[in-house]
Amino acid sequence: MTTFHQLTCAVSPGGLLFTCEDDECGRRLIVDPAGGGLVVIDHGDRAALHRGSVGGVRLSPARVGPA
Ligand SMILES: [Zn+2]
Repeated sequence: MTTFHQLTCAVSPGGLLFTCEDDECGRRLIVDPAGGGLVVIDHGDRAALHRGSVGGVRLSPARVGPA
């Protein structure tokens, strides 16, 4: 059985921070919008399929940086 988890996106100083909405999972990853790199901070539930969307989230790359 495959479980789908939803990732939510937020702008952080290090890039786009995707956080899993599942409290028991806790996957977090950072996407660098400039270089396209992806860094997994917490793997969380490795068996779950994670999908994220930036739909509905207003992103402004110019604001990515130290607050
Ligand atoms: Zn998850």
